Amino acid sequence: MQLVRVALDVPLPTLFDYRLAHATRELLGARVLVPFGRGQRAGVILEVGGEPEVALERIKPIAQVFEHEPRAAPDVLRLLRFASRYYHYPIGQVVMGALPQALRRPNGARDVQARVALTAMALAADWSSLPPRAVVRRRVLEHLRAQGPCTPALLRSLGSTASRAVRDLIAAGWIAFEESTSRALDDAIPHAAALGPTLTSDQAKAADAIAATLGRFTPWLLLGVTGSGKTEVYLQLIGRVLADGGQVLVLVPEINLTPQLESRLVTRFPSAVLASLHSGIPEAERLRRWRAAESGQASLLIGTRLAVFTPLPRLGLIVVDEEHDASLKQQEGLRYSARDLAVLRAKHRQVPVVLGSATPSLESYAKALAGRYRLIQLSGRANSQLPSIRCVDTRGLRLRDGLSSELIDALARTLAAREQSLVFINRRGYAPALLCFACGWSAPCTRCSARLVLHLGAVRLRCHYCGHEEPVTSACPSCGNLDLTAAGHGTQRVEQALAQLFPAARVLRIDRDTTRRRLAFQQMRQRVQDDDVDILVGTQMLAKGHDFPRLKLVGVVDTDSALYSTDFRAAEKLFAQLTQVAGRAGRRDVAGEVLIQTQFPGHPLYKAVQRQDFASFAERVLTERREAGFPPYAHQVLLRAEAAQREAVDRFLGHAARAGARLGFRVDVYDPVPAPVARVAGRERGHLLVQSASREEMQRFVDAWVPHLSGREARRVRWALDVDPLDL
Ligand code: ADP
Ligand code: ZN
Ligand code: ZN
Repeated sequence: MQLVRVALDVPLPTLFDYRLAHATRELLGARVLVPFGRGQRAGVILEVGGEPEVALERIKPIAQVFEHEPRAAPDVLRLLRFASRYYHYPIGQVVMGALPQALRRPNGARDVQARVALTAMALAADWSSLPPRAVVRRRVLEHLRAQGPCTPALLRSLGSTASRAVRDLIAAGWIAFEESTSRALDDAIPHAAALGPTLTSDQAKAADAIAATLGRFTPWLLLGVTGSGKTEVYLQLIGRVLADGGQVLVLVPEINLTPQLESRLVTRFPSAVLASLHSGIPEAERLRRWRAAESGQASLLIGTRLAVFTPLPRLGLIVVDEEHDASLKQQEGLRYSARDLAVLRAKHRQVPVVLGSATPSLESYAKALAGRYRLIQLSGRANSQLPSIRCVDTRGLRLRDGLSSELIDALARTLAAREQSLVFINRRGYAPALLCFACGWSAPCTRCSARLVLHLGAVRLRCHYCGHEEPVTSACPSCGNLDLTAAGHGTQRVEQALAQLFPAARVLRIDRDTTRRRLAFQQMRQRVQDDDVDILVGTQMLAKGHDFPRLKLVGVVDTDSALYSTDFRAAEKLFAQLTQVAGRAGRRDVAGEVLIQTQFPGHPLYKAVQRQDFASFAERVLTERREAGFPPYAHQVLLRAEAAQREAVDRFLGHAARAGARLGFRVDVYDPVPAPVARVAGRERGHLLVQSASREEMQRFVDAWVPHLSGREARRVRWALDVDPLDL
């Protein structure tokens, strides 16, 4: 009898003790069913052996071990343990949260009792080539040939090492789970691989340098302007890894970016099995794909954040595309950075990791400058010119629904030339406020400290924080004034203005409101590509890595507010956003043109965007950050709290601040402050920032601090720690 420690989906920072006969380290990562409270729960074995705190007989036995199921691999467990420690989140929730949903449920086993079958490769192979001692492997193959597909559990009767044999055969591609060859996975109908373009010398240099580090941990920062051919560099490297029989993990910030990359990968590597993992995929399918990756059957895994935790037995390379994108950081529950964990995973697995971006995060760029990441640059665009970028000084101009006459003229010209335009405005709805100029009233959300946004369609006022909606009032409730003003501009207003200005143009609005339906975004992207759109209006959804080959003109409206934001990252974010959205222009034959409307045309940030000069922008901001003692020269942890009463939040955070200061670590504990939007959906929110020059000191501090956060004051609040927060 052995002690076995199990991770369970329970919000406690601990593993749970059980006992099991014949437990060996082979079972690490295996899924089990254990008695818990009055019922049973699914869990994962994280430790085997060790001294129990009470007599072993008094510990409950494990109810069932799912020995033949796919399991979390050792390197994934190591990563999950790190994540639990570093982000201070309960180990059981971290481990179980990384599994496909079906495997988190006690009855999940039924779903995964799928059958394995011989693959075409096995049928074509000469079985006598198997080594003579592969007795059990041969027996498994013979059995499958005679009986057809069966479950791994059935095959277990073929010998004591049968489960190992099954796993080996899957990894070798001789047998496969039946349904993992379905749908997306079987798009791999062999067709001739499309050849890539001949690499430019910059690209070739980058690909060669990175390829030379295959087989050992090397973090690379690939900095290349938009359209410089970073993806082509990834494809080159992926080709080399696949040729060696390895697997590649590609992380992208958001689900909308997967189809484009997926189709590029499929056409380039038609015989490789590709699986994509993101939240838009139905559960059962997600499990299949996870298993295809875990068994080694899929050699390409492309996914969003959570994919970083997928077991990949032959992992040879990790790519993180658009590494600066905030979506790579999870913003609730386990608040982890998939990019940072990808680098750590590459280190554990001794493989290179490529972080790619036209506007790297200053965290990554600073590491590159310090020599901790290797920096490699692509200077120009691969097959087109960078767009010309100009500022339109809007001081003293009369704007028409936010549009200057210069931008309107440019749109007219582009339309006449039958080319596409994009108007970027990072605010959805019609107008961000409904105002009374007589008394200064503006329509507030009753549940949030925020203004309601005016939306067209069924004309309503809507809260962007809590979703609350109400009809538009015709008179000011405070002074009775009947003349209320829709103030400011959102995508709907610009869309409406464009429709009036250019009645013959096909205008398409892309924002969260128009893309709620599943696949809506993909269909819209297709319309843009099929040249079924003349003018696009949209939010930052459009500012990501999309390739719109026919887009010529980009107009940017209303981004100045970021220049006087209190967020120290505002400039970095705006620079990235403008560079990315400008980078959509002129990606093929047409020369791109970008007009940025601003009241601050001389601002250094706009100057740097115009020159497309990331390096000097970054160096200037990094100097400021160093002087101010901000990240990346300091490490931050944010304690977030919320409660029905402001007083409960204040009391908790005040207590936390005093407790933290008393601990005597080399950290700065700042005063608690209300969150930027202090009340959301009736809950008061506040936070407390802790900062330190040393990451290790910060970690030690938080370890010592957490026990002080569960006292009396904590009872009325919900709190969470955000390590390396991106939003304050
Ligand atoms: P990025 O990922 O840096 O935005 P991509 O790899 O998507 O850039 O390349 C941008 C465009 O340039 C694509 O249309 C791509 O097919 C093309 N391209 C990339 N590399 C080359 C090359 N060496 N020769 C010709 N065209 C290229
Ligand atoms: Zn009024
Ligand atoms: Zn609200």
